[in-house]
Amino acid sequence: MRTYMFRKASCGFSPGLRRFSDLKVTEHVPESPASARLTEQASLYVHWPYCLRRCTYCNFNKYIPKENNEDIMAKCLQRETETLLQLSQVSCITSVFFGGGTPSLTHPSTIAKILETVSKQVNLSDEAEVTLEVNPTPVGMSKLKDYHRVGVNRFSIGFQSLQDKDLKGLGRDHNSLDALQTLAEARKLCPGGVSVDIMFGRPNQTTELWSRELSEMLRVCDDHVSLYQLTLERGTQLFKQVQSGQVTMPTEEITAEMYQSARTTLQQHGFQQYEVSNFAKNNSESRHNLSYWTGKQYVGVGPGAHGRFVPLAEGGVTREARTQTLEPNVWIREVQQRGHGTRRRIQLGHLDLLEEVLVMGMRMTKGINHKHWQLFSPELSLLEIFGGSLDVQELLQKGLLILDDRGLRCSWDGLALLDSMLPVLLVELDRFFSQKLAAN
Ligand code: SF4
Repeated sequence: MRTYMFRKASCGFSPGLRRFSDLKVTEHVPESPASARLTEQASLYVHWPYCLRRCTYCNFNKYIPKENNEDIMAKCLQRETETLLQLSQVSCITSVFFGGGTPSLTHPSTIAKILETVSKQVNLSDEAEVTLEVNPTPVGMSKLKDYHRVGVNRFSIGFQSLQDKDLKGLGRDHNSLDALQTLAEARKLCPGGVSVDIMFGRPNQTTELWSRELSEMLRVCDDHVSLYQLTLERGTQLFKQVQSGQVTMPTEEITAEMYQSARTTLQQHGFQQYEVSNFAKNNSESRHNLSYWTGKQYVGVGPGAHGRFVPLAEGGVTREARTQTLEPNVWIREVQQRGHGTRRRIQLGHLDLLEEVLVMGMRMTKGINHKHWQLFSPELSLLEIFGGSLDVQELLQKGLLILDDRGLRCSWDGLALLDSMLPVLLVELDRFFSQKLAAN
């Protein structure tokens, strides 16, 4: 069994990344009254596509700007926010996440303008979580106070490593001292509201070095940690370095060992794991990311952003998966011409929605409880779908899955193997759903 890919989840990602099968279910299943309530709220993801330079491992949707077009970008982000919020008809935005790219390259006034646009149109309460991803450079740090002043109340810092040699090798534009100073400043402004991203599975990293580095990091960090496994992506500089033998990556067995040792270390330091890659103490879980994992609606604005919402203003009744145009200049033209840069819209059938709820929900340590599942699937319970399956029984007997009166979830060991178990669960869901459709 393979370990799960611990990919970063906040960069306008698509939860449908691991579409297991090409399931052609187009029949619309009406939403239940309870699930209809889901359409009243959404979270908002805003993508800033620019970076100062390319990290060697990165295949995110990011661009090195040839000129400063921040004014135009800010206007277009505001316009697209207005258009899509209006289309969704949501009355409340529960959280906002500025991701990228490098959103800490923006002027704080850009962030202020986007938040004002949201507040003018819908309810954005003072309690709403507003996160900004920060690259911990001296320039990024110098703006934290102003970001906080305009409404950011949570910082997610791309720490990645405490080793200067590794940071340099990965092409990051900060060193460990910059990162420590940024972290300290962010903690002063938002105590309990600072997350750090740390990367494992880096070139030449050993489990022992990793454990030492993580413990050092946990002595200084705040209440939230996101762990990411460095994955080798085609087309990146790192990929070429590995192909040419310049750089050696740890084996899959070693990265699996690193993940398990990190989970134990984090637990020993009082961090509760609440998702495959995320750990928190003092109730500091990311409310924004939880909204993805619990199947809530989200609106994505900016180049390459993803969204999931019902376009009520057009008379839509079905949730759509929406993707915005990737390339910033093309996206800008589209927003200027028609108010948004939506490139792709796919209506999610009932089975598509259930698949997403399953795939995302199983990432959480608490898994999917019966009540939550019922919200999306009033007619098919978790027990009906999975209780009678021999393959699922095998996973239950091996102690990797748990199906009980709370719901369906992974065990401690199972969570590390989620990637291998999801196909089994998806096949079962598909089979059961097809039978039900045929019977009706
Ligand atoms: S800062 Fe982030 S988005 Fe930009 S190149 Fe590096 S990893 Fe990619």
